[in-house]
Order: sequence, then structure tokens, then C-alpha cells
Amino acid sequence: MSHWSGPRMRKWIRIFIVLVTLEAVMGMSVPQKDVYIDPNLPGSLLKGRTVILDPGHGGKDPGARGLIAQEDQVNLAVALDLRQWLQDSGAKVKMTWEKPGQIPSFKKYRVYQRVKWINRTQGNALIDIHCNSAGSRWSGPQTFYWDGTSSYHLAYDVQKELQYFTHTKRRVARIDQYVLRYARMPAINVELGFISNPQEERLLANPGYQRELSWYIFLGIEQWFLKGRLPEHVLKSPPPGHLLIPG
Ligand SMILES: [Zn+2]
Repeated sequence: MSHWSGPRMRKWIRIFIVLVTLEAVMGMSVPQKDVYIDPNLPGSLLKGRTVILDPGHGGKDPGARGLIAQEDQVNLAVALDLRQWLQDSGAKVKMTWEKPGQIPSFKKYRVYQRVKWINRTQGNALIDIHCNSAGSRWSGPQTFYWDGTSSYHLAYDVQKELQYFTHTKRRVARIDQYVLRYARMPAINVELGFISNPQEERLLANPGYQRELSWYIFLGIEQWFLKGRLPEHVLKSPPPGHLLIPG
């Protein structure tokens, strides 16, 4: 008997009809609207800007480990999502590494080499991505910077979005990290959350959550670039209270 005869054939015809009907119904329920899109807006907001993404660790150094997730893999996944949002907005993105096996597992992660490469890129901003690890009681993302008003503003804008998204009370803080200290551009380190907290770890390992996290980090970066168009005296005052008081 042929493969395509009898009850089997009838079953496939039925599925086909159901699919076609479904599509017709859905097509009818979503009316096509003519939406005016300003041709100057899409994809050009961050045009001419270069963002450097550094997913922490990699290769022989996996970073912190949770019960199910490994830090370098979470860092990379979020960085790749973030790259997409940035590129969609017209920015150029360079990454210290971008594929799971790119840094050979026998090779030691040398942070000074990474910083040397970062400083050759002439990027407008550096976003380092890590996961925190400090027991199971702590949770929430936190953004760090080392020095400079620009780095502070960048960290603040990103953390503000992450506060909105996760309801964390964590604030921007200074941290003396090699990459932040020696990067010759505004630089921040986004700690995505605590991989040592099993509940948060499950979120961090979830591609949907990774994508959402990357979206809010992106919004913060975008805010910061928009702020860059403000007069210098405004930028040098501490946000946000001062920015909100008129006169
Ligand atoms: Zn780390």
C-alpha cells in the first residue's frame, strides 16, 4: 500500500484544511493598517555609534557555576541578543568573542589581552556582561562602573531600566575591575543576576528571560546615547533629580 493512501492521507488532508482555515480566520481578524513610519527613524537612532560587548569569561574560565547554568554561556547568550537590538538600531557592534567554542577550552582567559583588543576598537562604549555569585539569598541585576561621568551615566541609565524590569532595589555602584579600570572609553559591567540563587539561575538560563534582560539593557544604552546630545553642563550634573528641576 502506498504511503499516501487510506486513513493516513485523510488525516493529512484534515490537518491541511485546519491550517488553511486557521490562517484565513487569523488573517481576517488582523486588519491591515497603513502605518506611517518616518523614514528617518527606523534603524538610524544609533547610526555611527560603535558598541563593544564583552561577555565575561569563556574558554578555560567558565566563570561562576550554578546548579544548571554556567556563567560564560549566560553572558554570551545575553550579549548576542543585545547585539541584535543594537544592530537593529543602526549601531555597529564588536564583540570580544561571539561563539561558544571560540575561546579554546585549553586556553587561559587573559583579561589584559582582552582590554588591549577593546582599546584598539575605538568604540563609543564598552558593555561588560557577567553574572553575580554570592550564595542563594541575594538576587537582582546590578550595574557597575569604575570612574568618569560618562560611565556613571551609562551605568545609571542601564540600571534604571533593569530596576523597572526586575523590581530590584539594587543601585549603581563603583567597582575596581581590571576591564573597567583600563578601558579607554565609557565602560560598565552589567551583573545580570545571581547565578548562585537557584530561582534566579533558572531565569538566567531561560532564553526568553535572557532576551528580555537584553532588551532593557539596550534601552538603557540607547537612553545614554540620546543623552549624549545634551549640553555638557547638563551631562556633568548628577542624574536624575537635577535634570528634572526646571531652570
Ligand atoms: Zn563573571
